[in-house]
This record gives sequence, C-alpha cells and structure tokens, in this order.
Amino acid sequence: MESSQYLIELSKCIRCGSCKAFCPTYDEDSTEAMGARGRLALLWGFSSGQLAPSPILNDRIFSCTTCGACSGLCPLGIDIKEVVYHGRSLLKNTDKKRRYLRFLARFFTKKPTLSFRLLSITQHILFPYLLKKGLIPFNPELPEHHLKDRLQVYTVSKKKGRVAVFTGCTINFLYPHLGESLINVLHRLGYEVILPAGEVCCGAPLRTLGLEKEAIELAKKNLGIFNRLNVDAVLSLCPTCTLAIKVEYPKLIGDGIDKAVDISSFIIDKLEPSQFSSLSSSKGAIYHDPCHLKYGLGIEREPREIIKNIGFDLIETEGTKCCGFAGLFSLSYKKLSQGLLNKCIMDYTKREAEMIITACPGCMIQLTKGVKNKPVLHLIEVIEEAMFQQS
Ligand code: SF4
Ligand code: SF4
Repeated sequence: MESSQYLIELSKCIRCGSCKAFCPTYDEDSTEAMGARGRLALLWGFSSGQLAPSPILNDRIFSCTTCGACSGLCPLGIDIKEVVYHGRSLLKNTDKKRRYLRFLARFFTKKPTLSFRLLSITQHILFPYLLKKGLIPFNPELPEHHLKDRLQVYTVSKKKGRVAVFTGCTINFLYPHLGESLINVLHRLGYEVILPAGEVCCGAPLRTLGLEKEAIELAKKNLGIFNRLNVDAVLSLCPTCTLAIKVEYPKLIGDGIDKAVDISSFIIDKLEPSQFSSLSSSKGAIYHDPCHLKYGLGIEREPREIIKNIGFDLIETEGTKCCGFAGLFSLSYKKLSQGLLNKCIMDYTKREAEMIITACPGCMIQLTKGVKNKPVLHLIEVIEEAMFQQS
C-alpha cells in the first residue's frame, strides 16, 4: 500500500470506538492503546510523522492478536486487521524484540522439512530448555512423521467428487493424525483426496511479524499450485489458513484460492445422522469458536449443527472468548496470552462437559495448556470417531 493511501485509510477513523467492543486485548488491559481504536490512532500518528517509532509503539501494535473481532464493526468500513498488518510491515525494522522470531519464521518457512527434522532430533533437550527459560509456553511433543512432503492422492472406487487439502504447518508438523482423520472422513463420504506437492506456509504467521514481502512470495506459490487443480474444494483444518488463502490473499496479491472452504461448511450437508454411531449420544460437549472461523469466515452454526447431529449435548457457554494463542503472539506476549486463556476457560472448566471441541489446531494447543479436567478435540477427530465407531 502506498503511504498516501495508508494515511487516507487511517484518516477515515472518526474515533467512535465501536471496534473496541470485542477486542480481547482491550478486555484484558483496558488502556486505550491496547484496543483497536487506540492502535489506529497510534498508526495514524506514526504514518503522519507525529510519532517516532519506539519500543512502546511497537509493543502496542504487535500486541494485537489479529483475531479480527474488530473488522466487521467499523461503520466506515476500515479493514482494521489489514491496517495493523501494514503498520507492522512499516515498523518491523525498528522492532528489535521480535527479530529472533523473524529469523526463525523466515528459516522455517523456507526450509520446513529440514526445520522439522532438526527439531525432532533435538526436541528432548531443546524444548525443556526453552520452556525453563520461558521462551516457549509449553513443551510440544513432535510426531515421528509429518503428514506430507510429496504429492499424495487417495482414490476411491465410487467417486462423488475430488477435493484438495491445504494441510497447513500445524497439521503437517504437529498434528498429522488430524490430517489422516480428514482423509478418512472424506473417503467415507466418497471423495478422492489430493495433497498436492509444493504447498508452503499460508503466510499468516509472517504477516503477524510484519514480513509482508515474504508472505507475498508464499501466497503466489500456493496460488500457483492450488488454483491449477481440478477439484471441487480446497479444505483445511486450520481456519487461519483458510482465511489467509481465501480472504487475505486477494488483498495481498489480488487473487485468492476461491475454492477454499472450511471443512464444517463443506461436509455439513453430506453427513447423514445414520452415518453416526449412537454410542456418542448423551455426551456433553462444549464448542469453542476459533476467532478466524467466527469473525473471519463467519462460521458459527455449522460446527454446532454437526456436533448435535453426531448426538452430543451441545453445552453453550458464556460467549466464546479468544483463547489467546494467536500463533506467534503467544510467544511474544506470554503474560497477556495466559490472561486471555484464563478468562476463556473459566466457564469451560466449571461446566459438566465431557470434552471441549474446537475447529482450529492453534486453539487446541492453547486450550490443552489450560484445561486439565477434560480433553480438547478437533471437530474432525470427533466426526471420524462417530463415523467409524459403528464399522
Ligand atoms: S484484531 Fe482483535 S486484538 Fe487486534 S485490534 Fe482487532 S479486536 Fe483487537
Ligand atoms: S470503529 Fe472504525 S471509525 Fe470507529 S474507532 Fe474503530 S476504526 Fe475508527
């Protein structure tokens, strides 16, 4: 974005404050600069030359979780999340605090398989050390194998259609079993599944660090791969990836992966109650809305319908709050992230539910850290279990 255009966008703000209504960071720390309106005012001050870059300015701008709870609320139609992303790209060279994260994010997105191997070899020494030093919020257990590193096609005999999977880094390297669950479910529904070679990170984590140029390179690569495929849909288990490739790519590079669909909207009308085992009945389940699914893609009903169709008692809680993961935010703002998590799970832990179901691998990481009295599951593993229990 040209600097004059950016200033015009920022100047549209009439400081009405509507965008603060659901801002999780403002909810946690009620100072103006920790809310959406305050961040826009700071970016306006910086872009108009009235405010010099400083660690405090950077801290306020990089502390936005990019949840998107503010974007649809602006009466002037300001795309606040995009404004914040662009602001970060302007501030990144002055932001020393996250320079190591930028280095690691660049390296990981360029050499994902090598990074995974290095981390796998060193994980039992490295992760406990980083945890002890407070540099990571939890001790991850890496799986033995990641999901994909080459073209994979899973054929079916009576084919109803063909879909591609946008695996995403978290599913590929941390939760490959969820990718396998997705393939099993799609297969059972009669879909041929393709995992194309050459997929790269969706770029969202890079944008949160202000690495716009690098994110553009990744977006172009993914677009070239997925838009060439002859498929009915491109499905991802991570709403951040779906939001990035479908909604954010057009803003970033002028074109997106139009066929990208959230899995719950794709499969909801393909699932019959008869496909589920009655063994699931009467289990109480809480559904946690991932921010990017709810605010970014507008999907709240479909996962709930699926959970009810499986036969679970859906327990509604006092309004879903941001879990505080937000990718690299949880590494940069550990205290804030923990505060958001505590608020989010307060109601979940009190309820008589047997499980928490969500639809985002990032939310799973964060909620698992805080909720110890019930399992946190991805919607796809719940669907798979209900479908395959009876066979
Ligand atoms: S994206 Fe979320 S955290 Fe950031 S300003 Fe908007 S509501 Fe607040
Ligand atoms: S809702 Fe829009 S106009 Fe109102 S304060 Fe927020 S950004 Fe400014």
